Amino acid sequence: MSDDTKRLDPEKSFHMTPDEFRRWGHQTVDWIAGYMERVGDLPVRSQVAPGEIRARLPASPPQQGESFDVMLRDVDEHLLDGITHWQSPDFFAYFPANASGPSILGELLSAGLGVQGMLWATSPACTELETLVMDWLVEMLGLPQTFLSTSTGGGVIQDTASSAALCALIAARERTTGFLTDKRGCQQDSEGQGTLVAYTSTQAHSSIEKAVRIAGLGQQNLRLIEVDENYAMRPAALEAAIRRDRQAGRRPCFVSATIGTTSSHGLDPIGTIGEICRHLGVWLHVDAAMAGTAALCPEHRKMHDGLELADSYCFNPHKWMFTNFDCDAFWVADRGALIKALSVLPEYLRNEATESGAVLDYRDWQIPLGRRFRALKLWFVIRHYGVAGLRHHVRQHIGLARRFAGWVAQSEDFELAAPVPLNLVCFRHLGGDAFNQRLLDLLNNSGDLYLTHTKLGGLLTLRLSIGQTHTTAEHVQRAWRNIESTAKAMAKDLKPCE
Ligand SMILES: *Cc1c(COP(=O)(O)O)cnc(C)c1O
Repeated sequence: MSDDTKRLDPEKSFHMTPDEFRRWGHQTVDWIAGYMERVGDLPVRSQVAPGEIRARLPASPPQQGESFDVMLRDVDEHLLDGITHWQSPDFFAYFPANASGPSILGELLSAGLGVQGMLWATSPACTELETLVMDWLVEMLGLPQTFLSTSTGGGVIQDTASSAALCALIAARERTTGFLTDKRGCQQDSEGQGTLVAYTSTQAHSSIEKAVRIAGLGQQNLRLIEVDENYAMRPAALEAAIRRDRQAGRRPCFVSATIGTTSSHGLDPIGTIGEICRHLGVWLHVDAAMAGTAALCPEHRKMHDGLELADSYCFNPHKWMFTNFDCDAFWVADRGALIKALSVLPEYLRNEATESGAVLDYRDWQIPLGRRFRALKLWFVIRHYGVAGLRHHVRQHIGLARRFAGWVAQSEDFELAAPVPLNLVCFRHLGGDAFNQRLLDLLNNSGDLYLTHTKLGGLLTLRLSIGQTHTTAEHVQRAWRNIESTAKAMAKDLKPCE
């Protein structure tokens, strides 16, 4: 026992009292509101070197508790330099992670309630609000009626699209093997007969490959199907691959199609792919993590044509629907398969409501047991904006992306690298890969804006993704002027060396 512990008064409490919480809580909310006001003036991509932030902080934890204002000051003085400002209106990198007032407050309230929603019985409102909000989203996005909880399917909030894909794959694997791999393991016979196979396109997100590895199919049993000139999966190539595997005695079990690929927003043709999957008895999962939000607007629902043929579908409100991370919305058309694949009921979780079959226990719809009250922030966001408000902002983002694409198309120095169906513009300078890389580095080092890159058709390509909560026409115009003038200055510097 240390000296400190010996001296402690057994009656003393170190807890923050409700009064102290009120005081520091107000101060923290003030801090966040102030951050919202100034985030546009901070360098978008953090400019620190590796290890720099840690080196500024004490190597060992404090023995005595510290005051909250000191902690909040350290956030300002030490952490902020190491923050890449995803909430900046000049953030155009990767994909948006757009937060909003109602979602942040919903998150706070969820922490305040501190609920564990693993079973209906452990907090009925947590489960019932989630079911309601997921049914609302079916209506808001015009999704198939089978996804409704009142039909054969239903929706559940997952942490991420990666988890949604893994759950879908496990349900698909179990449905294909008659729910036996979970008992016997994934072994095939020595000729590889019965090997389970999954399919996705060369443009699919890396989370599909990760799911295939975790679910035990083996990476060599993931077929990457070729894409067309618009980076969409070729259905004929998919069908040929499935038939080849069937003829060889393997068992095709899972296809993941993408609506809005990460690199370029390629849109796989869901209807044609869905018919192939139905006909050949393969589970179709549709990953619309980023692009799904666009379906709030009826004029963008064409990308969902054929979705009634899908077994599962997901999109991330935590990307482009003003809901802070984490919140992935995941639906299945037949909840029976998912629940049968993931349900384990130990004695200590048995309860009357579960036993009666009258309630949903969301622990059976996901990998972990425990779960947070995520529906609260989603409920707040939908009620604050209303469907019309959400639609308005999504339309604005898409409109801004189209304007930016128009400037690129008219420019003599730049070209578009892919179609622009929604809010992502893929473009490049005509000066080649090294020029584009240097341009990207200069722009990002300036702190004025943040873009990322990908490779399309073997060429380095810049990506401008529009979806931050407070991004306006002005920010996008300034970004284009900045990109153009930086490229012009670079070209001028290069001239004498030619
Ligand atoms: C972002 C993204 C993912 C991964 O999302 P997480 O929720 O972080 O797992 C998967 N697929 C697509 C198409 C994405 O855009």
